[in-house]
Amino acid sequence: MTETNMQVAQGQFNMQRFPIEKNQKLRAWDAADEYLLNDLAAKLKRVENPRILIINDNFGTLAVALHAFSPYCISDSFISLTSTAENLAQNKLPENGAQLLTSLQQPDGEFDFILIKAPKTVAYLEDTLIRLQARLKPDTQLIVAGMVKNLPASVWRTVELLVGPTAPSRAVKKARLIYAQPDSQRNILANPYPVTYQLENTDYQISNHANVFSHKSLDIGTRFFLQHLPQDNKYRQVVDLGCGNGVVGLIFAANNSGAQLHFIDESYMAVASAQLNFERAFPARKASYTASDALRDLSPDSVDLVLCNPPFHQQTSIGCHIAMRMFQQAKNVLRSEGELWVIGNRHLGYQTSLKKYFPTVELVASNVKFIILKASC
Ligand code: SAM
Repeated sequence: MTETNMQVAQGQFNMQRFPIEKNQKLRAWDAADEYLLNDLAAKLKRVENPRILIINDNFGTLAVALHAFSPYCISDSFISLTSTAENLAQNKLPENGAQLLTSLQQPDGEFDFILIKAPKTVAYLEDTLIRLQARLKPDTQLIVAGMVKNLPASVWRTVELLVGPTAPSRAVKKARLIYAQPDSQRNILANPYPVTYQLENTDYQISNHANVFSHKSLDIGTRFFLQHLPQDNKYRQVVDLGCGNGVVGLIFAANNSGAQLHFIDESYMAVASAQLNFERAFPARKASYTASDALRDLSPDSVDLVLCNPPFHQQTSIGCHIAMRMFQQAKNVLRSEGELWVIGNRHLGYQTSLKKYFPTVELVASNVKFIILKASC
């Protein structure tokens, strides 16, 4: 049984990872959440009506425990924001127990406490810190919390550069806190994100917000997928699932002029990047852009083709469970002649997984590292 009862200085809460999956083994919080919440308890008492901003709260742990302060929460993840709302409801806390914002939005005003769970990439941390400059005041207490393995020297350097001097806590259960004090002399760089590259052998410009998969250059798996995308008038409604910067849907559209594209990703920055890139490439072509968890918003029998380079991470945990959910949902939304095209590392064994949901699974192409599969209904 997964542990769901979280006990911290602020109280006892029932926390789940949403969407709830059978055989879920991981808890919704980690030792860094516990450390941060316990560390904050005394500090919060010293500030009258503290304004709190939380960034990258994975499943809403920090928001739920600190609900009494009506914190603002920023996340790039649709799943994280949905989980936060679900966990507030599950603990019978009011909906406005936290103000939820996407990574492309900012709250007004300055904050007494800014609490950041260390993100997966330094690029996203850099972008986050640049965006929140106007939220800092001289006595803001900014704390970055993470498992020691997720706090490399580059995280410290980025915080020192964009906020000010840092001090470490001791490590507890392999978690650490980095305390930063805003330096009034800090020299803030212009935000380098989104970054843009020209897609090889084309005139297309591909812009990438900071938290987008392979934001600096074309991923080698994606490159292989682009070389083998199908071309046929029969594909009318086409989903680029886990679209990242949208390059897969964009190249498919270039070769299939009658298709209507739907870009879906759980990262708000990915969806915004895909929209930027597709609208620049095809100003007159209609497409949809949705931040969501896989295909949960689509109707059954509504899609002709799903193109997917599945993720192997959810936040910092690794696994194929999201890919499995995507395959299962693809089966539901595809029409009777519909197809799911998937690229993956050979060792992931997607062929066997796809066969659980689709009667026919064919090999389209493979090289030493990757395999492209076509699953038909
Ligand atoms: N399609 C892009 C490409 O090939 O360059 C990106 C592929 S990347 C391996 C996987 C993408 O899936 C990421 O952009 C990630 O944000 C997205 N993703 C992860 N979990 C998701 C979910 N539950 N629903 C939708 N997208 C998800």
